Amino acid sequence: MSGHALLSPSSSERWINCPPSAKENVGGDTGSTYTQQGTDAHALCEYKVKKALGHKVCDPIPDLEFYDEEMEECATAYCEFIMEQVQAAKESCPDPLVLVEQRLDFTRWVAESFGTADYICVADWMMTVVDFKYGLGVLVDAENNSQMRMYALGALNLFESLYDIQTVRMIIFQPRRDNVSIAEISKNDLLTWADEVLIPVAELAAKGEGEYKAGKHCQFCKIKATCRKRAEYNLQMAQYDFAVPDTLADDEISMILDRADTFIGWVNDIKAYALEQAISVKQYPGFKVVEGRSNRRYTDTDAVAAVVSDAGYDPYEKKLMGVTAMTKLLGTKKFNTLLGSLIEKPKGKPTLVPESDKRRAYAGCYFINANSATKPGVVDADCQPILDTSELYSGIYGRASINFYAFNTNGNKGIACGLNNLQKLRDGNAIKLTE
Ligand code: SF4
Repeated sequence: MSGHALLSPSSSERWINCPPSAKENVGGDTGSTYTQQGTDAHALCEYKVKKALGHKVCDPIPDLEFYDEEMEECATAYCEFIMEQVQAAKESCPDPLVLVEQRLDFTRWVAESFGTADYICVADWMMTVVDFKYGLGVLVDAENNSQMRMYALGALNLFESLYDIQTVRMIIFQPRRDNVSIAEISKNDLLTWADEVLIPVAELAAKGEGEYKAGKHCQFCKIKATCRKRAEYNLQMAQYDFAVPDTLADDEISMILDRADTFIGWVNDIKAYALEQAISVKQYPGFKVVEGRSNRRYTDTDAVAAVVSDAGYDPYEKKLMGVTAMTKLLGTKKFNTLLGSLIEKPKGKPTLVPESDKRRAYAGCYFINANSATKPGVVDADCQPILDTSELYSGIYGRASINFYAFNTNGNKGIACGLNNLQKLRDGNAIKLTE
């Protein structure tokens, strides 16, 4: 794609939620490392898919700055996914229309707006639009996704006079997050959304009008570090009245968890912005720039190895390859044949996520809150008392002796669980509330 539309599909979540942000982001993304990585990955995907479809194409790899094994794997997986889509389309329609990296024009709805869809397939009444995402940071959902809807509109604009398209399927393929997200919308609902949401908001955004509104969409805004609206939005939580009552209720904690990532992101954006400013021009009252902590390192690894060898020692350690490296060495088929019975996937650490997260709730496990007014006895695997309290932390494996009892106090009735004694069997991963 050449040039960058002010009201582009890729930035639409931001300008639809906060129309005046469009004027703050003139020029679009100025080319971060992540953007260039994504551009390289898209070029590789385009090459692989076009080649698989029988087009004559030049290998772009020599010109890709960020090409590596991971990019190769992701592009190969994308190509396989697209070819599956093509095959599935052929099963319902003998001659589907397949387009790769198709330039789209959205000016029927949004002034001066254009973009490029990674893959479009029209098979009779069904049109499929696929977008490849190389990013890792944000898990992208196809449901209610304005970028995908704009691509669908652009494609509809091109083909609705030639095909009787009734339904649009929108697919996000995000291999580095193992994410394939699919949503469908009828042609009528899509056009209604365009008339009722897209057109009025785009008119405001083009003029730099409308209300500033902060939220998750601020993440890709150029003024995210200094925007007052975003600061107010995040400070609402910091100003939360913690005084009454003394402890937070469960729904208050839920509210804080819901905003926590956005809040932390905002604080980090301000820290990064302030550091950049302080290094070059600004002096923030009460702050100074110092040298951060660093670790010792070798200046010449070959020379170090030679010196240590000459001194009669082996400077190298031998380690078993990790699963990913071993799979690459043997190939997936041989890896499964030779090592399949020696591979396990341990249960991941418990992680607190929003209800909307697509993963299943932690399965096959129970949470029991057991406590005791007196200190429980704690022993190790040999039934010897554990005196060092650092040996005990959330995440260790062991046995607990507990008892259940009924209670009826001041009108509160229920079943409670008491804690008797604990036995630690082995260490584990410390449990933290992190994603
Ligand atoms: S940071 Fe958020 S609220 Fe501020 S202009 Fe950008 S998108 Fe709007």
